[in-house]
Amino acid sequence: MSEPNFPSPEELQKKLSDFMKTQFGNHVSVSTQVSAAPEEAGGPGSAVGTGDEVFEFRHLPRDIKAHLDRYVIRQDDAKRVLAIAVCDHYNNVNYMRKLEREDEKKARETEYTKQNVILLGPTGVGKTYLVKHIAELVGVPFVKADATKFSETGYVGGDVEDLVRELVQGANGDVEMAQYGIIYIDEVDKIASSASTMGRDVSGRGVQTALLKLMEETEVPLRAPNDIQGQLQAAMEFQRTGGKPKRQTINTRHVLFLVSGAFEKIRGVIERRVRQGTIGFAAPPDGQQGGEMLEHVTTADFVEYGLEPEFIGRLPVRVVCRELSVEDLFEILQRSEGSIVRQYERAFRAYGIEVFFEEAGLKRIAELAAVEKTGARGLLTVCERLLRSFKYELPGSGANRFTVDVGLIEDPEKRLAELLEQGQRALAEELAAVAREFAQRLASRHNLKVELTQGAIAKLVERAVAENIHMRDLCAEVFKDYEFGLKLAEGTTEPLILTEEAVGNPDRYLSEWLVKRYRADRRTGEEQMASKSVDLCGDSPAR
Ligand code: ADP
Repeated sequence: MSEPNFPSPEELQKKLSDFMKTQFGNHVSVSTQVSAAPEEAGGPGSAVGTGDEVFEFRHLPRDIKAHLDRYVIRQDDAKRVLAIAVCDHYNNVNYMRKLEREDEKKARETEYTKQNVILLGPTGVGKTYLVKHIAELVGVPFVKADATKFSETGYVGGDVEDLVRELVQGANGDVEMAQYGIIYIDEVDKIASSASTMGRDVSGRGVQTALLKLMEETEVPLRAPNDIQGQLQAAMEFQRTGGKPKRQTINTRHVLFLVSGAFEKIRGVIERRVRQGTIGFAAPPDGQQGGEMLEHVTTADFVEYGLEPEFIGRLPVRVVCRELSVEDLFEILQRSEGSIVRQYERAFRAYGIEVFFEEAGLKRIAELAAVEKTGARGLLTVCERLLRSFKYELPGSGANRFTVDVGLIEDPEKRLAELLEQGQRALAEELAAVAREFAQRLASRHNLKVELTQGAIAKLVERAVAENIHMRDLCAEVFKDYEFGLKLAEGTTEPLILTEEAVGNPDRYLSEWLVKRYRADRRTGEEQMASKSVDLCGDSPAR
């Protein structure tokens, strides 16, 4: 069969654009930006699988933990367990890649059970944060999604595969690199089929099955079947490259899967098992609570909870993240490199405002955040509530520093009002200085004395603020005719006192002053003349 006769990429784009215009008007445009061509991505010089490696895993578990310690407070068990799982996984990837180069057949036959991880723990305690920092350190693409997203759409399988395609985007189009990425799925407790209460929940089960397929090994098409633009791009690339065979799928064999969930109600399952005296792998002693109880979770508990045995079976590494105490939250603010305190300092600095967080203030914020019961997320909630109006009101108000202390936290509105008032005063002072400087320059250019009264300054400041213009521009505008007018009075010793009235009606004020000066000068001239003639008269008899 002969190849279909494809139009050139330009023709195709034009045809597509015309079609879109007739269908949707000018609201839709067609972009033909092609992400890195898949076959190029894995080609010579790319990161993985070529021999000249950019991605070479060389970390030790203790290095990973040390890296995580910089950002994540507590969760030591999780850090250790994740560090080991990640090292095992990527060491195996190193080994397999080497083997694939040396002996492809043996590589295919080599068995390896992936160390996919399930993280249990409440919201906002650092689960995602841990995974994100691990992916960053290892240098692999990382994708996160909520498991609930898949059940909501109803279109199960395809959406789950989108996760894998997103890895390619995360790897800037590098398909090979994407195959070593990390996929993190939160809220997996929500896709448990609620077997014990209301019969099997089909959609949750469907999502589990779809995920299971990915976790094992599957080839995911690079372009989603419903991605028409992607398909067209593929056609254009096909045309452009003269139909070279190219890689069209992503293999999930080496993708590391991490899943997590709060599993609130699984405690009940564990407790029941303990009470009924079922002999679990590690039955917890009576009286244990919360996180401690979760640590004793068994596969049977997960199955009882509603996870499919095959699904939970693909998640052999289990670890619990603990709830964060007030002290932990305080430490996050103070010590974590990713602390939101740094974020707030940066945000205010962008407006030239320095913010200082006092230790006692941080402690109070941690206490308020703990009440929110959303882990470290509560810190942001509290800070936003406290500082939102500061972020809006302070920039441009003249205030250039403030301290977050207990007083501010107790009554933020009062502190804001004080800061704004101080800011206004500082701003007015600054503007007044500019106005005085303007008067000074005018004076020195004309060899005169020029002064602004307090009333004149107040009026100028009021106008500069109200009209939102620079003081220098305002003065130049108000006194624009003075440059010329004052030439007529150069060298006058009598100072020009600019009053509030001068600001209101500058030209009349100037002309009246000039007339006054002129008259005064004339009078002085006449008086001098007169005294000279008196002198002359007075002298004559003596001659
Ligand atoms: P979850 O456990 O729900 O996945 P996240 O990891 O997304 O929570 O945490 C939300 C934010 O809270 C993180 O981006 C981080 O800034 C902060 N955070 C959470 N836990 C910790 C922790 N243990 N140490 C430092 N920061 C944390």
